[in-house]
Amino acid sequence: MPHTIPAAPTAATYFPSLRFDADIIAKLGQPGPRYTSYPTADRFDPAYNYGNYLEAVAARRLHGGRAPLSLYLHIPFCDTVCYYCACNKIVTKDRSKAATYLGYLKQEIAMQAMLLHGANQVDQLHLGGGTPTYLSDAQMDELMAHLRSHFEFAPDNVGEYGIEIDPRTVTPERVHTLRQQGFNRISLGVQDFDPAVQKAVNRIQPEAETLAVMQAARDAGFRSVSIDLIYGLPLQTMDTMRATLAKVIAANPDRIALYNYAHMPHLFKPQRRIADEDLPPAQVKLDLLALCINTLCAAGYVYIGMDHFARPEDDLAVAQRQGRLHRNFQGYSTHAGADLLACGVSAISAIGASYSQNAKTLDEYYAALEDGRLPVARGIRLNTDDLLRRIVIQALMCNFELSISAIEEAYPVDFWHYFAKERAQLEQLEQDGLVTLEPKWITITLKGRLLIRNVCMVFDRYLAHAREQAPQPLRYSKTI
Ligand code: SF4
Repeated sequence: MPHTIPAAPTAATYFPSLRFDADIIAKLGQPGPRYTSYPTADRFDPAYNYGNYLEAVAARRLHGGRAPLSLYLHIPFCDTVCYYCACNKIVTKDRSKAATYLGYLKQEIAMQAMLLHGANQVDQLHLGGGTPTYLSDAQMDELMAHLRSHFEFAPDNVGEYGIEIDPRTVTPERVHTLRQQGFNRISLGVQDFDPAVQKAVNRIQPEAETLAVMQAARDAGFRSVSIDLIYGLPLQTMDTMRATLAKVIAANPDRIALYNYAHMPHLFKPQRRIADEDLPPAQVKLDLLALCINTLCAAGYVYIGMDHFARPEDDLAVAQRQGRLHRNFQGYSTHAGADLLACGVSAISAIGASYSQNAKTLDEYYAALEDGRLPVARGIRLNTDDLLRRIVIQALMCNFELSISAIEEAYPVDFWHYFAKERAQLEQLEQDGLVTLEPKWITITLKGRLLIRNVCMVFDRYLAHAREQAPQPLRYSKTI
């Protein structure tokens, strides 16, 4: 029997609840992209190069692109490896590597700033990794001063300046320093509070340490504190998850990201250290998800979409209510339409109608910069069809509905004529109860929200084409 999530008193003021339907998830859960971009990064072309990137920046200028930028910096280093990790990181205890990297990163930032000169206002910054706090206090000072000398940052009360931290490597004092360095949002990797689960994934992180960092963030005046959790980790049970959730709710973060652990040891080497028999069976994993959703919604969190929950008063929830929510490589963002400039090894930028990704290895990244070139390694120029599909996927991911009239006003298409093939698949999803189709609206139902990736996959032309050619290899995580 599908169970309905109890309405949360505050969240329900703005949002209806979502519905967890185990049967439909079991039927339709399948590997699929997360749509942090469309086309997805696996469609980027290695023939796309520095020259193409320069064209994208020139086009931005030509079209008067003066909207503030969103900046992302990738710091790839970590002290130790977490066995579940699927990120692009370098595990090393040799701190001199960070100093070398910082030199090159600063060079890339200076080159990008020169290109964007005159249109280099920034109102969003995110440092991700790896572990951004692998950099020392002095290195972080140096990096932030360098950024400020090359870009014009919006004041603290306007801009969103976030950093991902690993509470194992950050003291409460350091949290205060990060605030002084200009960050006003902080995101903590927690994953699970249970000591046995932590041991099984090689991430021992005492609860007291995490709570002290969260308290320090509040004391230091961070505007938003966010934590990451993962369900489906080895040794997780309903009881351990219940205990973790109780602690999370007591700690009262503004946002919670709840990720599905996708066990793909053929793609991610560290995951080979996780024994298959320690993983919760598929049914337990679904029960864990239901438990998390029920508990977080009952505690008043709003389901934003995909893996994200937020307090109703948090900027993310407000932006969603106002239709300003946006999705990019960091997940959901409140700054719709901002071009994303990403620096660092493997980082992906989204400028106008293009995506470009930096070299994935340090050697290639350094070599390009030594040659005086930006380290663009691959990317894609979006054609009109890509742009149209991107806007459709964005709207569905962020708003759970799509106004056909709005699309037809922006693009010279008869929507249902253009997407006639897709309509047949949507009708199937309508029969499964995931969407409702009307002449001028597509709406994701309450039980369709958890399977939003399935709906977006219908509009993914590249995926459809690849499926026509051959069965899809297991390169995506499951949609649930
Ligand atoms: S999960 Fe984070 S801290 Fe752990 S290895 Fe991956 S990037 Fe590093």
